Amino acid sequence: MSSVLQTPIEYLKGVGPQRGELLKKELDIYTFGDLLHYYPFRYVDRSVIHRIKDITPLTQFIQLKGKISGFRQIGAGRQKRLLATFSDDSGEIELVWFQGADWVLKTLKVNTEYLLFGKPQIFNHAYNIPHPEMEMFTDEVKTSGKGLQPVYSSSEKARKKYLDSKGISKLTQALLMQLSEKDVPEFLPAEVVQQYKLTSRFHALHHIHYPKSEAHLHAAMRRLKFEELFLIQLQMLTLKANRHQATKGFMFEKIDNHFDRFYKSSLPFRLTEAQKRVLREIRKDTLSGKQMNRLLQGDVGSGKTIVALLTMLMALDNNFQACLMAPTEILANQHFENIMELLRGIKLEVALLTGSVKGKARKYILDGLANGTIHMVIGTHALIEETVAFKNLGMVVIDEQHRFGVAQRASLWTKNENPPHILVMTATPIPRTLAMTVYGDLDVSVIDELPPGRKPIKTIHRTDVARMQVFGFLHNEIAKGRQVYVVYPLIEESEALDLKHLMDGYESLSRAFPKPQYQISIVHGKMRPADKDFEMQRFVKHETQLMIATTVIEVGVNVPNASVMVIENAERFGLAQLHQLRGRVGRGADQSYCILMTGNKLTNEAKQRIGVMCQTNDGFVIAEEDLKLRGPGDLEGTRQSGMLHLKLADLALDSKILEAARQTAQHIMDDDAQLSKPEHQPLLKFLQENLKDKAWAKIS
Ligand code: ADP
Ligand code: MG
Repeated sequence: MSSVLQTPIEYLKGVGPQRGELLKKELDIYTFGDLLHYYPFRYVDRSVIHRIKDITPLTQFIQLKGKISGFRQIGAGRQKRLLATFSDDSGEIELVWFQGADWVLKTLKVNTEYLLFGKPQIFNHAYNIPHPEMEMFTDEVKTSGKGLQPVYSSSEKARKKYLDSKGISKLTQALLMQLSEKDVPEFLPAEVVQQYKLTSRFHALHHIHYPKSEAHLHAAMRRLKFEELFLIQLQMLTLKANRHQATKGFMFEKIDNHFDRFYKSSLPFRLTEAQKRVLREIRKDTLSGKQMNRLLQGDVGSGKTIVALLTMLMALDNNFQACLMAPTEILANQHFENIMELLRGIKLEVALLTGSVKGKARKYILDGLANGTIHMVIGTHALIEETVAFKNLGMVVIDEQHRFGVAQRASLWTKNENPPHILVMTATPIPRTLAMTVYGDLDVSVIDELPPGRKPIKTIHRTDVARMQVFGFLHNEIAKGRQVYVVYPLIEESEALDLKHLMDGYESLSRAFPKPQYQISIVHGKMRPADKDFEMQRFVKHETQLMIATTVIEVGVNVPNASVMVIENAERFGLAQLHQLRGRVGRGADQSYCILMTGNKLTNEAKQRIGVMCQTNDGFVIAEEDLKLRGPGDLEGTRQSGMLHLKLADLALDSKILEAARQTAQHIMDDDAQLSKPEHQPLLKFLQENLKDKAWAKIS
């Protein structure tokens, strides 16, 4: 059954084929329904009447009340225009029309009270208002007022055909006049509407375009945000439920061999309670008969690697293979060495597969993975190349997941007939609200506790004038046997310049820390992987005291003896990145420091970022701040997710609504996943009509 809302837009009064084309091409409005959901991006308050003398250079739109005292026509040809003097008891202002003078002269009267609405501009050192909206100030207007007026975005081309904000507003008005409650039926169960005191869909959609008051607008927004977030949550939960139905998960019943032996005799430290809890959660998943899809969040240094290793051992004990995928070669190498060290004395075949493994060595690994003689493999993207086949891959761990696209992740899932269990680890703490939206189909585990004995990193902000003191401080730390990172920004657009900064920095550092007493490692993106690795290893082995690098070292690197992180041009880094970088120190028992170097002049936002960094070490607090400062579209890990085309809701501000929406969706899924109960029929119908090409249809 088709509803009015599916009517093609050209059939709306005032549209027609030509403007219909424009609406489709330019504004993505194909149907009545699309127009109904084409929300204003702001409103102008027409309930207030200002006075002419209140106009300032910052005034956007303004509403005035007054009279026209007379008209003048000046200029000729294309310069021709009509002027009028408009005055209230506070002053005078000129009105200007460049077109339609005849019509204006015919309709507007002098010495009659008008309500005027328009956008003042400055011309010849005085204000004027071009093409104002004028309305006679009748008793009716006086009492009803005009409330909040919608402002719609439009495009250059559309504007030329009078589809500017005002033009669109005429269309939404025409549409709303034509719609009745039955065209926009409620789809949320009555109970939910009542529980959260939501405005009906019909009223909300009316008031999002034409709010009678701030209160009406607020209620409409709240309802529509709830609806938006609820639908996302419902789809996420459905995806999850269907994945569980469609695929079986491998059962890891035994942990009595490698896992136990390692746990009892090779574990180099006591696990934190948080690490143990996460392992219990993973254990439960791998015994459930369902495929695990778990996101493990843990701040930098919280000890995710050991959890990854133990998780992989669970697979091995059940005769499955396991793999660990890292985003960079440096990191893959480090994981490999770290894990080889940990597994010393345990008889297992573990391989390292990266882009630089070639020829015979590569063939040996590929064969071993295919015939099952290699049990565990650690690597980079090289692992997801087509030539890589596994005998029976049971567990995939992906480290620092935000570096991998969704598609890359998915291609690992298909390496088996039955999908392996997946553990995705990220050190970029994602605010709860965001995790619920972007990763709503994954289960989330959190390591919210650092290994014992860590001292909080001290973070300080210094400007260039203090450089000599900073160098002095580094000398002292190095004298104590510590090591130092100095990091420079690298942004693609200014790559050449950034490299120059790094090289200049290297030179000045070499002067302050001369050979042979001091040795400096240098790592940047333009180096060959083998050279990078060589320089990195010199630092890891403590052959160098300083490591100067671009952000390639951002992720994962573990050198517990390094105690100072100097970040140059810190104002150019985002919060998440600063936090990641800082996480490279503070891994040993010594006091660690992070020094944020900036210029003198900082934007407000940069000041705030630096301030947050100096105040807290808590990754989750930082993530929340980041969300507030930048908005979710920009957060690492969400960019490629393609999930966040939110029209109204703001994840930074609407966490309460999101929580409620999530609970509602969860409740409905638990209670009636098939949506077969009578109270869920409107919802089912809505989903079938509106989410045809989306996930919902694929599922049901
Ligand atoms: P991340 O979560 O950032 O990947 P790592 O796994 O690299 O952290 O761990 C950081 C450091 O903490 C490593 O040197 C690791 O050996 C150590 N570590 C991890 N867990 C513990 C623990 N429970 N007790 C003591 N040290 C630990
Ligand atoms: Mg790590």
